Order: sequence, then structure tokens, then C-alpha cells
Amino acid sequence: METVAPYKEIIDVIKASGGDAFKRCFQCGLCDVVCPWNRVATFSMRRLVREATFGLTDIESEEMWRCTTCGRCPQQCPRDVKQIESGVALRKIATEYGVFPASVKPVRTISGSLVGEGNPLKEERKKRADWAADLSVKPFTEGMDILYFPDCYCSYDPRLKKVARATAAILNRAGVDFGILGALENCCGESIRKTGDEEVFRRLARENIKTFIDHGVKKILVSSPHCYHTFKNEYPEFMVNFEVVHISQYLIHLINEGRLELTKEYGKKVTWHDPCYLGRHNGIYDEPREVLKRIPGLELKEMAESRVDSLCCGGGGGRIWMETKKSERFSDLRIGQAIDCGAEVLVTACPYCITNFEDSRLTLGHGDVIEIKDITEIVSEVI
Ligand code: SF4
Ligand code: SF4
Repeated sequence: METVAPYKEIIDVIKASGGDAFKRCFQCGLCDVVCPWNRVATFSMRRLVREATFGLTDIESEEMWRCTTCGRCPQQCPRDVKQIESGVALRKIATEYGVFPASVKPVRTISGSLVGEGNPLKEERKKRADWAADLSVKPFTEGMDILYFPDCYCSYDPRLKKVARATAAILNRAGVDFGILGALENCCGESIRKTGDEEVFRRLARENIKTFIDHGVKKILVSSPHCYHTFKNEYPEFMVNFEVVHISQYLIHLINEGRLELTKEYGKKVTWHDPCYLGRHNGIYDEPREVLKRIPGLELKEMAESRVDSLCCGGGGGRIWMETKKSERFSDLRIGQAIDCGAEVLVTACPYCITNFEDSRLTLGHGDVIEIKDITEIVSEVI
């Protein structure tokens, strides 16, 4: 099998995706300075860019699959080299050639599960609403105020189902007129798109959009920053525009409207982790902190890297499905930063971050030192 894609093909795909961005690089290396990979392994976005510019990309290499699309280096780049878009364009070539390094192979089976069952977890579509079976949660019907879209992990994963359940409890307490789509909901497709599988992304997006339109959906509440990002910034490519709200924004809205009272004490030291797709990609930094500050007794601490400098958990860009060696996990570093700032609870609002942090907490043996919580889990404890 040919492993070096023809130069013309690489340049054509890059042009179609991010313009001729790679050619603007003048090899300053600022991207490598901020990239979290350089704390755990040797990886160079600068080198990847240079190789692509000269048509030397080895599509069998692990390197082009490392980027988590965290958004940190594009903010630093003086030449607007659009590293994420161009990197995804390279992955598209590999996907079309059917070339995947060993650590990336799960992505291939995930594409099948996404197409067949609408989720990457190889779960049955008909079980998508099981998390809500014993709760007061209605199917969405036209005229309801808001659609709650809990995403694949919050629908199926035992740890993340607690987040969907906490969210439903909060919405019910606040008297929100909401519903869910259950088995009609598909994965939003954000992460599979970042692995280069544009065809599967477009299929999922089209099906979701049709369902939203058929049901008269106007406003969508999401738990995942990845759903938020793709509904808000990528689905408009299909000539639609839904109002999208992340739960951290909706919580402060409900509190400010007097519909949600935070009455109980939460006497713990807490730190907020900014998920890449909530913070850097969408500028939502203040709302979750505002919610936490309103909780009686809660002491909010900031980690060494926060807000625009937040350290990626390692799960974006489809990396949540790829194998990452124990010694190379960003989430291990982040747990260390949370403990160092004196926090007893690391709180966030992203299913990928929670998955990675829970894993690191246990593998590092910090189960007794720090808890991992979604913001809804804390709020549901204090209302
Ligand atoms: S920061 Fe931009 S210009 Fe500098 S090496 Fe990286 S991609 Fe090239
Ligand atoms: S987007 Fe993040 S992970 Fe990807 S190369 Fe840039 S800094 Fe590294």
C-alpha cells in the first residue's frame, strides 16, 4: 500500500480545507512551545506543517493523529496557519486511503457504530433514553421551550449518565418545559469529523438536522461542549441555525431568573477546568465560575493554567477513542495541577474531560485525594 500521499493530493485537500495556510508557516516554533504534547512526548506541529508543505507527510505515522485540536497553538501562531483545519485535512487523506496506525484503529469500528446505531460506544439506539426511564422526562414535542440533548456519553456511559440525571433533576426543579429525542438522537458528529471522516459527520449532521426540523426544535440545551461547538459553529454549514445553550450558561440564567435557588452548603475547595471546546473554542469562561461562586460555602480555586491557557484533558480531536500511553496522558498532569492548587474537587462540564480525569484519578492512585464532578452534579446537591 502506498503510504506517502501524492504531493498534489495533500496540497489540494489542504487548500480545500484551510486555504493555503501551511505555506504561510515561517517555522518560528511557537506552536511547539505551547503544545501540551511536548510535556509528555516529542511531537512537533511545526515539523508536521513543514512536511506537509513539501508533500512529505507519511500518512502511516502516528504523528498526524496526535493533535487534540485543543486550540492552544492557533492562538499563538503569528501566521494564521490554521493548524487544526489543516491537520484534519491530512487525516482526511489517511481516512480515504484506509490507513490507520494501531492506536487509531478503534476509530474505524467507531465509524460503523455511529452510522448503524448513532453512537460511538457500540450501544443499541433503542436504549438511548434508558438513563431517563425512572425520571420525569418527556419526549420532545413541538412547542416545548427547549430540547435537552444529552450526547452519547451522558446517554450510555454509567459514569456520565449521572450527569444527564442531575441535569434532568435541575430542569424539573426549575420548572423548565423540556423534552428529549431519545432513540431519534444521533451523535452530533463533532469528534468523528476531527478524525477526518467527513462523510460520517455529514450523515449524522443531516439526520440530526432533519429530526430537529421535523420536531420543531428551536432551542437546544447541551451537556457537551463538543455538541455545543458543532451545533453552533458547524451545523450552519447546512444552512440552519438553532439556538444552542450549554448547561453552564443555562444554570446561571436559571439562577438569575430566580428559578433555581442554591440553598445548601457545599463546604469544599473546588477548581474549575475549562474544557477546550467551551473555553478556547467558544469563549465561555465566566458563566460556570459564576455558578460555582453562588454556591454557599464553596471555595473556588484556580489552577496554574486556566481560562485561555487551560490544559487540555487529551480527549478532543477524536483522541478520546485512540490509545494514549499511560506516560503521555495530559489528564494526569491536570489532576496534578488541581491537587497543587489545593482543590478537593475538580469540576468541569464535558463528558470527555470527566472520562479522562476519572481514569487518571484512579490510575494515579488519587481516589481519596480528589473528586471529579460535573457542574450539574454539584448544583443538584445544593438545590
Ligand atoms: S506557530 Fe505558526 S508560523 Fe510558527 S511554526 Fe507554528 S505553524 Fe509555523
Ligand atoms: S491544537 Fe493543541 S494539541 Fe493540537 S498541535 Fe496545537 S497545541 Fe498541540
